[in-house]
Amino acid sequence: CGIMGYIGNREAQSILINGLKKLEYRGYDSAGIAVCDGESIAVCKAKGRIDVLEEQAEKSSLQGEIGIGHTRWATHGRPSDENSHPHFDQSGKFAIVHNGIIENYLDLKQELEERGVVFTSQTDTEVIVHLLAELYDGDIVSTVQQVAGKIRGAYALGVMTEHEPDKLIAVRLASPLIIGVGTGENFIGSDIPAVLEHTRDVYVLEDGDLAILTKDSVTVMNLETNQLIERDLLRIEWD
Ligand code: GLU
Repeated sequence: CGIMGYIGNREAQSILINGLKKLEYRGYDSAGIAVCDGESIAVCKAKGRIDVLEEQAEKSSLQGEIGIGHTRWATHGRPSDENSHPHFDQSGKFAIVHNGIIENYLDLKQELEERGVVFTSQTDTEVIVHLLAELYDGDIVSTVQQVAGKIRGAYALGVMTEHEPDKLIAVRLASPLIIGVGTGENFIGSDIPAVLEHTRDVYVLEDGDLAILTKDSVTVMNLETNQLIERDLLRIEWD
């Protein structure tokens, strides 16, 4: 399973798909991407191989220079188109990808359903994106922090919203995640090979790190305390 993210000046679609291909060795049963053109988010996702996704994405040609991608290894909900990531809130303005497991998702799902939220998948992941939409306070960073306080489990997350289309958020808690640092562009990846064709400068996130990516900056902070963190920038010398 894997996560790929891009923010920069180039079309995101093929960068995301190529990054996901580099993460195929981690295993997966479905794949998907979501791309934002600065106004709205378009999605393409499918059960099966990345080639299937690539074919579909080429037909619909998602426009935009910000995006998130995912390869899924199903833990909750069978492999299917609907259960593939990215997942969306009901407005379609928030999109997330997730690797890992949300242990308390059933309780959260029940609470959300009692408040009228309609779920479109059987995944544990989907609760996260509905909570984001429900708790959104105009600042995606503090909203992600609030949601992180409600979910229990292991996760790596990539988050994008139409409300703040100049940002990508990455969170790591017990699932690997790295940030590739480019010039005028930055990347999220589950592992270094996903970004190596674009950059050799990498931050390896640690548990409890939240990273804010714009095309020109990467800021890492502690998910709970807000304290800024200086991670060492690694220069990758191998191929
Ligand atoms: N638990 C999530 C799901 O089943 C994410 C699985 C993964 O790590 O790919 O959709």
